[in-house]
Amino acid sequence: MTHRPDRRGFDSLEQELVERESQRLYRRRRLLQSPQQPALHCDGRELLGFCSNDYLGLANHPRVVESLQRAASRYGVGGGASHLVIGHSEPHHALEEALAAFTGRERVLLFSSGYMANTGVITALLDKRDAVFEDRLNHASLIDGGLLSGARFKRYLHNDVDSLRQRLNASSVQRKLVVTDGVFSMDGDLAPLPELAQLCQQQGAWLMVDDAHGFGVLGETGGGCAEYFGLGSDQLPVLVGTLGKGFGTAGAFVAGSATLIETLIQQARSYIYTTSMPPAVAAATLESLQLLKEEGWRRTHLAQLIARFRAGALALGLRLMDSTTPIQPILVGDAGQALALSQRLETAGVLVSAIRPPTVPRGTARLRVTLSASHSEQDVDRLLEALAKVTKEQGVGGE
Ligand SMILES: *Cc1c(COP(=O)(O)O)cnc(C)c1O
Repeated sequence: MTHRPDRRGFDSLEQELVERESQRLYRRRRLLQSPQQPALHCDGRELLGFCSNDYLGLANHPRVVESLQRAASRYGVGGGASHLVIGHSEPHHALEEALAAFTGRERVLLFSSGYMANTGVITALLDKRDAVFEDRLNHASLIDGGLLSGARFKRYLHNDVDSLRQRLNASSVQRKLVVTDGVFSMDGDLAPLPELAQLCQQQGAWLMVDDAHGFGVLGETGGGCAEYFGLGSDQLPVLVGTLGKGFGTAGAFVAGSATLIETLIQQARSYIYTTSMPPAVAAATLESLQLLKEEGWRRTHLAQLIARFRAGALALGLRLMDSTTPIQPILVGDAGQALALSQRLETAGVLVSAIRPPTVPRGTARLRVTLSASHSEQDVDRLLEALAKVTKEQGVGGE
């Protein structure tokens, strides 16, 4: 970075950047030169990656790639317009119907990203007369949607049903929306959905779950936390999934009743005022949905890798979190230390990202390991060896 005064009067911004850097909170992008897969070509180097959300290894699957190519030949590249004008094409419609069948919901609506789905849903359902109740570790897109809606905004303690009950009891507004991640993105733990669903039913509140990290991974057929806990539309009326993680493509969807979906079509601004996703992406997602349902071995293999990693990391004395999912954070605490560990791992040829505030609370910086069905057992062993080496060098772990 250059620290000379900015001629356009951006000095105060420059100052903030310098401060951020001195607190070791500065973020930098890497340049990926290969597809998303364990063996990465990145910034001119070969690295073994443990930081993608491509949990099932579908992002670069030949059948998914081929479906995209075939659909691009037929439908072109761009969506061309918003869904409500002339951008809603056959592959979008077919994907919505397939996802409705998959989730066992009446209808599904596609969005261009999970961020847009979350902000679109919350702002469409609530206004300033209403209240939204959010787990304090919810994903930023859920927090932003809640704030943008203008509804009264209440945060409850992480996964704490009593804390939520107190806040619901103290609220007299008519519409109450309870919002939670299904699998928490930085911790990997699950929300207690059956208990939350029961409480919401007692209180006449709606439950909305963002299952970005559960679809494809949890449940017998990859139906996510709704399938895992056996929750239907009555208990879990607003179900959000994203397509850029387990599905390996891009975009997001909301599943629920016909009334919910029609309301979103009429009211969700991030649905109405944007170009539809490229139709070929929808076609590719139909193929990845097929693979995700059919190839149960991907989930079985993933579960084996998770068990192998946890056993190995615990043997090294590392501090793991309460997670049974492919998100396996190693708690470090100090942001600088987490960053240094990540850099040492990279020198050893292994890529694991350091997650620091404000993404996670102060003092809880961590290494966020994510596993994929495309990893092998040898890959996990290489990660464990590298962790053993760098934590010893830096004097971390070994409680
Ligand atoms: C990644 C993520 C999103 C955003 O989804 P995109 O499709 O990447 O915009 C939303 N919620 C959670 C919990 C996520 O992890």
